[in-house]
Amino acid sequence: MKSPKIITVTSLSELRNARATLPEPIGLVPTMGFLHAGHLSLVRQARQDCASVVVSIFVNPVQFGPAEDLSKYPRDLQRDLQLLTSAGVDLVWTPTPREMYPDGYQTWISLDELVKPLEGAMRPGHFRGVATVVGKLFNCVQPQKAYFGQKDAQQAAVIRRMTNDLNFPVEIIICPIVRADDGLAMSSRNVYLNAEERQAATVLYRSLNAARAAFDKGERDANTLRRIMTDTINSEPLASLQYVSCANYDTLIELEAITGKSLLSMAVFLGKTRLIDNMVLG
Ligand code: AMP
Repeated sequence: MKSPKIITVTSLSELRNARATLPEPIGLVPTMGFLHAGHLSLVRQARQDCASVVVSIFVNPVQFGPAEDLSKYPRDLQRDLQLLTSAGVDLVWTPTPREMYPDGYQTWISLDELVKPLEGAMRPGHFRGVATVVGKLFNCVQPQKAYFGQKDAQQAAVIRRMTNDLNFPVEIIICPIVRADDGLAMSSRNVYLNAEERQAATVLYRSLNAARAAFDKGERDANTLRRIMTDTINSEPLASLQYVSCANYDTLIELEAITGKSLLSMAVFLGKTRLIDNMVLG
């Protein structure tokens, strides 16, 4: 049942009071705002599964590296609230960095192995920031279920692992990647692309599909699949490849041959904008 009015809170005490009025089970959708159809697909799933839906909007400073785009990360709270109201969300929490990380803050959640490859290798400290904020969001909202996108495949793996390892009483639900009609995965960062880069950005999905087509024809050699993705990315003059990977789905360790569930993934620069995408095989 949809509640008639969306509640918006900022402080932790307001959150706790509002949380106490909501019927359970509660589904949490953590976001950094500037919402698009990908975020809204998580909200829709939460709406289907849960009696109440809580969305957090927080551009988490500790998951951005010193050279990353924290200060110019896109924001539009009014538009986000309109979208969430239409989507039937019950409660929106927009904490401040100061309340999340007050002076003297010094407690972190870090994982040993899962954070070493892929995004973790390119963005040192990123997943320490992600795991810590998600742990804090779980403690503050106390949801029964929490929704994340497969778009951020390593983040999904990190959160599944952390939730298990630390016994958070939360069921983690990973939702499929939502794409534009031409295949580009929806991302708040897509607004940074100019018209030519936006068109060239379809190369990520094309390269994943090229590798998937080879896999479907029986190719199981991981180097060959990585080469197919690399060649496709390199065929696009505006694209600059940072990494491609063909890894075990759970451990994210690079494979020699595909035997079970595997993850193809990549990071690619279009101009100054860094995009990631992935596809699951097997
Ligand atoms: P963000 O605001 O970028 O931190 O994303 C918030 C949540 O939405 C994360 O769990 C993302 O994985 C998820 N998400 C972002 N883009 C997509 C997409 N295109 N499809 C599905 N989920 C997405």
